[in-house]
Amino acid sequence: MKAHDGMYIGGRWLPAAGPDTIAVVNPADEQVIAHVPAGTAEDVDAAVRAAREAFPAWAATPPAERAAHLEALRDELTRRADEIAGTVTAELGAPPVLAQRVHVGLPLRVAGSYAELAASYSFEERINNSTVLLEPVGVVGAITPWNYPLHQIVAKVAPALAAGCTIVLKPAEDTPLTAQLFADAVHDAGLPAGVFNLVTGLGPVAGQALAAHEGVDLVSFTGSTAVGRQIGATAGAAIKRVALELGGKSANVILPSADLARAVSHGIANVMSNSGQTCSAWTRMLVHKDQYDEAVALAAAAADRFVPGEQVGPLVNAKQQQRVRAYIETGVAEGARLVAGGPAAPFETGYYVSPTVFADVTPEMTIAQEEIFGPVVCVLRYEDEQDAVEIANGTVYGLAGAVWAGEDAEAAAFARRIDTGQIDINGGRFNHLAPFGGYKQSGVGRELGPHGLAEYLQTKSLQF
Ligand code: NAD
Repeated sequence: MKAHDGMYIGGRWLPAAGPDTIAVVNPADEQVIAHVPAGTAEDVDAAVRAAREAFPAWAATPPAERAAHLEALRDELTRRADEIAGTVTAELGAPPVLAQRVHVGLPLRVAGSYAELAASYSFEERINNSTVLLEPVGVVGAITPWNYPLHQIVAKVAPALAAGCTIVLKPAEDTPLTAQLFADAVHDAGLPAGVFNLVTGLGPVAGQALAAHEGVDLVSFTGSTAVGRQIGATAGAAIKRVALELGGKSANVILPSADLARAVSHGIANVMSNSGQTCSAWTRMLVHKDQYDEAVALAAAAADRFVPGEQVGPLVNAKQQQRVRAYIETGVAEGARLVAGGPAAPFETGYYVSPTVFADVTPEMTIAQEEIFGPVVCVLRYEDEQDAVEIANGTVYGLAGAVWAGEDAEAAAFARRIDTGQIDINGGRFNHLAPFGGYKQSGVGRELGPHGLAEYLQTKSLQF
């Protein structure tokens, strides 16, 4: 596949400072499809300097002009939609329909929403005798994961640019080609040099250098809670702003009055999409004891309809595949009952894992507590509503979830008792303008819509 052999810095593709490269592998057939440069602290430093240099002029650019630039960027991404979808399929393994609809479709909507918000947002407000100016924070260091390669980039870059910040992106090492295509789109959209910069590289090298760089004012990180903790500590020590979008272990709570078949089938589809590699996936299904056996049978049948290699792609790499299979073995060892799938790989080649459902899962089991990040659903039994609340809230995470009931009002009343950042009521649709982010160890800060824009702003009060 086409790959740049340099870094996009200051509006140009520049040679990397060091000779090392990263091999990009297609997880469906394990073939190397490209190499990209493995950036060093030197590359990161050059990128941060370029972003700093571009900052004053970009911050002073009228919001309507920034909006026009974002619109041009959205149009460039739209023009490349097929190429991006093909690249996401090649480096992540996403089935083509998912790649088109979600991996490309969602970021296009998000980019468009920030073009509109940049133009309509009130960057000034009046409070009594004060005028409060909402000013850009400065240079953003963005570090993104591989699971939704383009969406994770757009969810940071678009609001940062809308706010008047400039940005350096370090994308995940598994999916750098999508990030390079994004940089091409930025370039062809005619954004001013230096407002967006890209350094590909390894997390502990380029990512760490970016998080620690004194020229970065805000670190925006999406990824695992373990790395997020380190980044939070680094940013805290430097008194730097930080936004963390981390892991999840979300509950899908099915109340007795719900349409059980619908709730179970949505729940399984939610987890199997993207091969379970979704931070907000509802990986714990909570069912009332009287409906438990029926729900387990429905869940097993629903999971069996997701065929590896067709509806379900591979996991992103061999390490993730091993990790998920090890979790499935742990579930069996701890006494959970496999009703679909299992630890055996469905194919010899490709990093596939069979869609898996566990029954008889109890809340303290490892598979009910830790984020597996694969196509694995745990079905848990609850006694009554209070028990369901305690189980739903009984992990360190709080990113998302779902509640199902006969009436929306009943589900919404239950949702108020759940410690989590997003809850879908009776299959409510994803809203790309609603704030997305975690309670507890699922993160700090919010992305998307006006709340996502506010993360990149700081206030200055003028008293009259
Ligand atoms: P990861 O934490 O290993 O990597 C994420 C990014 O951080 C990558 O770009 C990586 O190169 C970089 N990185 C790794 N070590 C680093 C270090 N020491 N310093 C700086 N950067 C470093 O996570 P992953 O495996 O790529 O992604 C999966 C995780 O991301 C899951 O836990 C998932 O739940 C989480 N996630 C959260 C959200 C959310 O919005 N809350 C969204 C997607 C994924």
